[in-house]
Amino acid sequence: MTASIIDGKAFAANVKETVARKVETLKNDHDLTPGLAVVLVGEDPASQVYVRNKNKSTVAAGMNSFEHLMNDDVSEADLIAKVNELNNDPAVHGILVQLPLPKHINEAAVIESISPEKDVDGFHVINSGLLATGGKGMVPCTPLGCIMMLKDKLGNLSGLDAVVVGRSNIVGNPMAQLLLNESCTVTIAHSRTKNIEDVVRRADIVVAAVGVPELVKGDWIKEGATVIDVGINRITKDDGKTKLVGDVEFDSAAERAGAITPVPGGVGPMTIAVLLANTVTAACRQAGIEEPA
Ligand code: NDP
Repeated sequence: MTASIIDGKAFAANVKETVARKVETLKNDHDLTPGLAVVLVGEDPASQVYVRNKNKSTVAAGMNSFEHLMNDDVSEADLIAKVNELNNDPAVHGILVQLPLPKHINEAAVIESISPEKDVDGFHVINSGLLATGGKGMVPCTPLGCIMMLKDKLGNLSGLDAVVVGRSNIVGNPMAQLLLNESCTVTIAHSRTKNIEDVVRRADIVVAAVGVPELVKGDWIKEGATVIDVGINRITKDDGKTKLVGDVEFDSAAERAGAITPVPGGVGPMTIAVLLANTVTAACRQAGIEEPA
C-alpha cells in the first residue's frame, strides 16, 4: 500500500476538542450554552444508535442535548408542531430530525419547517441556496467534514480536478458545491454517467457517495489522487459474517492513491463532530456573538 490513511477518528477527536473549548468560552464569557435538539420518530435500530451517539457527544462537549422521541404513527402535523415548538425555544440552537422518516410523512415538508438558522443538518432549501450562492448558511455535516479533511491534507484545493460520485442533496450535491467554492474543477458523476471509470481517472480528488459497496475500483484512481470514501455499506462475507465496506475498493485504491479514508474510521466519525461544530456556529449567530477562535 502506498497511500497515507486519513484518520477520521483522530480528526474528529480534534474537532470535538475545539468545540468543547469554544463551548467553555461561550459559557464563561457570554453565559451561553449551545443546545442541540434531536427528534427521532419510531424505533429504527440504526437511527436509535445514531441518536444515542449524537446525544453522548453533545453532552461530552459541554452542550445541552434535548431528545424528543415520537411514535412512528405520529402525524406530519404533530411532528411539524414539535419542530415549531423547538424553533421557538431559546435554549435550542440546533434542530435535527433524524432521517429517514416513516413513509406517511413528507420529509421535505418537515425539513422546511425547521428554522433555517437552527437547521444544523443544512438540508433546508434556504441553506442549500446560500451554499450555492456563496452565502453564510448552515452547511451539511458530512460534506463539510470531507472538505475539512481535504483541506487539512492538501492545503489549497484551487485548480484541482475533483470528481464527486453521487448527487444526493445530503452528500453529493453539497460536496460538489463546496469543492467548487474552493475553486476546484468539479465533475458530478451519477448512475447515468457514461464511462464513469474514465471520468474518475481524471480526478486529483475523488469523493465517493454512492451507497454501492466497492463500486469505485482501484484502477479507476489516478496515481497520487486523494480519495474520500463516504459510503457505509454492510456486506455479508462468504463465512456469513458481516463487514462494513465503503463505496471504494479500499486495498486496490490504496495502491494508487496518495491518501485515502478508510471505512470504517474515515468520514463516518467526522459527521457527528461537524454537527457539534455547526451547533456552536448556530448558537453564536443566533446570539449575535462572534464565534470564539
Ligand atoms: P443516495 O442513495 O441518496 O444517493 C446515491 C447517489 O449515488 C445517487 O446520486 C445515485 O445516482 C448514485 N449512484 C447510485 N448507483 C450508482 C452507480 N452504479 N454509478 C454511479 N452512481 C451511482 O445516497 P446518499 O448520498 O445519502 O449516501 C451515499 C452513501 O454515503 C451511502 O453509503 C450512505 O450510507 C453514506 N453516507 C454516509 C454518511 C457518513 O459518513 N456519516 C452520511 C450520509 C451518507 P442517481 O442520482 O443517478 O440515482
